[in-house]
Amino acid sequence: MAGGAPPESVVVVGAGQGGYQTAASLREHGYRGGITLISAEDALPYERPPLTKAYLKGEADEAMLWLRPATYYVRQSIDLVSGTVTEIDPAARSVRLSDGSTYDYGHLVLATGATPRTLDVPGAELRGVHTLRTARDAAALQSSLAGARRVVVVGAGFIGLEFAAVAREAGVRVTVVETLDRPLARAVSAYTAAHFTRLHRRHGTELLFGQSVKSLQGDSRSHVRAVELADGSRLPADLVLIGVGVTPRTELAAAAGLPVHGGIAVDSRLRTADPHISAIGDCAAFPQVRSGSRLRLECVQNAVGHGRSVAERLAGTSRAYDELPWFWSDQFSTTVQIAGFDEGHDSEVVLGTDPDAFSVLLFRGDDLQAVESVNRPGDHAAARRLLTQGTAPTPEEASAPGFGLK
Ligand SMILES: Cc1cc2nc3c(=O)[nH]c(=O)nc-3n(C[C@H](O)[C@H](O)[C@H](O)COP(=O)(O)OP(=O)(O)OC[C@H]3O[C@@H](n4cnc5c(N)ncnc54)[C@H](O)[C@@H]3O)c2cc1C
Repeated sequence: MAGGAPPESVVVVGAGQGGYQTAASLREHGYRGGITLISAEDALPYERPPLTKAYLKGEADEAMLWLRPATYYVRQSIDLVSGTVTEIDPAARSVRLSDGSTYDYGHLVLATGATPRTLDVPGAELRGVHTLRTARDAAALQSSLAGARRVVVVGAGFIGLEFAAVAREAGVRVTVVETLDRPLARAVSAYTAAHFTRLHRRHGTELLFGQSVKSLQGDSRSHVRAVELADGSRLPADLVLIGVGVTPRTELAAAAGLPVHGGIAVDSRLRTADPHISAIGDCAAFPQVRSGSRLRLECVQNAVGHGRSVAERLAGTSRAYDELPWFWSDQFSTTVQIAGFDEGHDSEVVLGTDPDAFSVLLFRGDDLQAVESVNRPGDHAAARRLLTQGTAPTPEEASAPGFGLK
């Protein structure tokens, strides 16, 4: 389906995974107009997953995070601008930066990502208390870790657990505090969560469930020394990572009068209520083609898929975004890969008898929603294929003796 005449120029706010992809894909699709990529970070566009993995372990330097070297942007005539957009003027079709400069746009893409939540408790501002989103955050965390002996991680989500694994591998004592009764509760099934509980405990990490933080306590130099829990117990700590999720960066959109529903609200073509503004990646809440429900995802696949899709539309070909979500996480020597999105399952089928290598198929009725594969990359690849083609098995078929996804 035709997407109309390409705009004269595209301005992208946010040069993370999604913003970069939009600019790169526009050129791949032959778009010849001006492209301005505005970044609040003082760095070339880079990927975030290594921040809790190779980069944090010191196995990759900053240049290895870059999505492309500086010469790429020059060659592709992509104008990389360093600065923070503070205002959108939808009527004038321009954005204003904090230094007062303005940029006019034919089309505006909001790829502003998300920002880590902090804890609203006394002591949250102490030195040695970290959140992790940017390369700068990771560098600060890495240098704190080098001198740390007792680490407390607040929140057993992916960021918290990946960091906990790196800290344990560095020989530091680690305690993870989680309000809910299991890790990764928003992201994986109870079966897979139990695997991660065992994995971390096996490596000597203390996991405390059903516990919340009451305060962070510091010394005379305002450096964190302990975490006080709601039950009154006290965990010594010289480094605390807060990994309690993120908030989508919707403030620019909201101030411009665009609807926000858990993320910047977009339609199936990632258009906001303003036909000249799109939103993509972690900041965007988009309708799932299959279920119609509005979804906001935080993964590389989603940011890249959205970036490609918007670029395709702006370059002249428009279709609804309906890519299958997928995600991965590495912790110790375990990799979990998730294909699809579980909107609430009512049955599950486990493939494999090895407690450290299995796949969990999550069904709603006869419908396969998602497949979680732990150390079974072949299953993950097959699951993505089956879910994309719409040829997924039913629970009965998946439970039959000898069944394999491949
Ligand atoms: C430590 C870490 C590990 C991760 N690991 C994985 C993983 O293993 N697998 C996976 O699939 N995903 C992982 N993710 C998630 C993945 O990196 C994100 O989903 C992805 O980066 C989202 O891309 P985005 O473009 O939407 O946002 P981002 O990459 O966050 O980019 C948004 C950019 O917009 C900028 N910005 C915001 N507001 C403004 C403004 N007003 N003006 C100018 N610039 C602005 C921000 O500074 C930022 O640079 C991880 C994330 C983190 C933080």
